[in-house]
Amino acid sequence: MTFFVLGIDGASWNVIRPNLKVLKNFARLIQAGKAKEIVLREKPISAAIWCGMFSGKTVEEHGHLEFTKDGKIVKREDIPVKFIWDILKDKIDVRVLNVPFVVPPYSFNVDFRPVGFGLPSNEKEWEEELERVTETTKELLTWKPDLLISVFTLLDRVQHFHWGEPVVLEWYKKLDEKIGELVWDTGFLPSETNKLILISDHGFCSFGEAKVQTLPKRTPYGELKGDHLERAVLITVNVEEEIEQPQDVFRVLEKEFLRTKS
Ligand SMILES: [Zn+2]
Repeated sequence: MTFFVLGIDGASWNVIRPNLKVLKNFARLIQAGKAKEIVLREKPISAAIWCGMFSGKTVEEHGHLEFTKDGKIVKREDIPVKFIWDILKDKIDVRVLNVPFVVPPYSFNVDFRPVGFGLPSNEKEWEEELERVTETTKELLTWKPDLLISVFTLLDRVQHFHWGEPVVLEWYKKLDEKIGELVWDTGFLPSETNKLILISDHGFCSFGEAKVQTLPKRTPYGELKGDHLERAVLITVNVEEEIEQPQDVFRVLEKEFLRTKS
């Protein structure tokens, strides 16, 4: 059995739902499992949400809000928590790829060079991240680890710069194809035993509509058009437990592996 957590930074139901005809692998996964919307209790800030998802802590408890603090980049060692992989590493085979609670995104037990210093910010780098995360994840799946956590970050960047433009859907389509390669073409699904959580850290909306501005409107890369929405995507396959908030992912994994392997 492999438990696969596939994170998609910024994936949003307001793009996926109306386009299920062209996002065939999203549609197929929704059919195969359970889909719902997570309404975040915490501010939709990527670093904080990913950190909570894999540490089980609230933002007050883990204290990690942004990629930088006092002008310095926050490192893994600066965050005083145990992540799920720290807890399970001696019990099971756990692989972690590209989790963006820090920059560059964090990998554990996987050799992965981040794309674009961890903040892919143009088409070429988005394409590169899509390819490299897919290829590495595919390879990891063939090793059948007990737990694999893998995250694509590009949609977050694409939507900040292009929200409202047709190109956004084009990137969802590219990602949808990769999801198909990962979950169906590898034989990971359909399976009675393998478990999947597909989750985003927040959704997206127009820059002016966001309750929380996560970045200034003007950035070194250009003007922003989209910003984070406090609603996230969740699709699960073969997972019994309910997930209401990102932190529940930690609890589901803890229960799964501390229960069966201890
Ligand atoms: Zn994000």
